[in-house]
Order: sequence, then structure tokens, then C-alpha cells
Amino acid sequence: MPALIKNEASCLCGSVKIDVANVNPKFTVCHCETCRNWGGGPFFAVQCGTDVNIKGAENVKEYNSSFWASRGFCSLCGTHLFYRLNQTGGYNIPVGLFSKGNDFVMTMQYFSDRRPDYYCFSKQTEEMTTAEIKAYFVSKV
Ligand SMILES: [Zn+2]
Ligand SMILES: [Zn+2]
Repeated sequence: MPALIKNEASCLCGSVKIDVANVNPKFTVCHCETCRNWGGGPFFAVQCGTDVNIKGAENVKEYNSSFWASRGFCSLCGTHLFYRLNQTGGYNIPVGLFSKGNDFVMTMQYFSDRRPDYYCFSKQTEEMTTAEIKAYFVSKV
């Protein structure tokens, strides 16, 4: 487990600020169709757990993108704020929203088999395919 750090995320217009007590600096990129449709590209997801304090929560809208998770965004400026798992309540926040970003490291790519041919990263990371992710989560239930 990497050292968890405190950080603050903010939307573009500043109406929503999210204090996160335990940011995991090793973040995951998700290439699935839902994430790419949501953000127009892959989702750079930072695991933030549940110790999260949202300021300006009245400006947050949530969309239930699947039966296991929802996606939150700022209703004033449209910034994508989080992907949240219903079961754990754990937040995943896009890496670009954090003010102190220098310690982040891209270490994993999810749904690598669903990554389209029109982009790729030069940085090599661990990857998981759809089948590997399904097997992993089934084994945890
Ligand atoms: Zn905003
Ligand atoms: Zn995804």
C-alpha cells in the first residue's frame, strides 16, 4: 500500500471543492466505453476511499451510470467530479482535479482490451482486460 496523502480537488468554476483525507497517488486509467463516453476519453481515476468532504454539495448532480456505481458532476460548470461505487461508497476522482498533483503515478490500466486503436500511452503500466477484471471481482465476492 502506498503512502496516502491529503489533497483537495476542485471543479473548473470552484463551486465544488472536495477534501480527501487519503488519496492513493498510484492511479488507474479506465478505457471502458462508459468512461470514454462520459469524459470524451479515458478516465484517470484516483482512489480516494470514503473519507471525503464535499463543499458545495448542493451543486453536485449524480448520474447512475450502472447498477453498481454513480458519476457526479458540477451542475454549474460540468466538471466530472467522481465515480462512486454503491457497495463501498468509495470515491474515484479524476487526477486533473487535484491542486497538488506532483506525486501521482499512473500504475494500472483497466479494460485494456477495450482501448481503441486511436490512442495509446508511451508509459508502460500494469493492465487488466475485461476477463481479468471480471475474474478478479468475482473472486472477491
Ligand atoms: Zn463547477
Ligand atoms: Zn471505465
